[in-house]
Amino acid sequence: MAKKIIINKEVCIGCGTCVALCDKAFKLNDEFKAELKDDADLEASCVKEAVDACPVEAIKIEE
Ligand code: SF4
Repeated sequence: MAKKIIINKEVCIGCGTCVALCDKAFKLNDEFKAELKDDADLEASCVKEAVDACPVEAIKIEE
């Protein structure tokens, strides 16, 4: 089942960790806030790694 990923852009500090860990799913936008890629692979195992690694817990997974 496809997961829903929610990124809180108010909280995101644009550190790029999620992109470094999982560029299959995440990108930084022009304002250095994380976004899902248009073709994001939400089933990739790195998605959870990125969620866990975000220093400000800006990314949530809704199953
Ligand atoms: S790891 Fe968190 S704070 Fe860093 S860019 Fe990604 S969502 Fe933003």
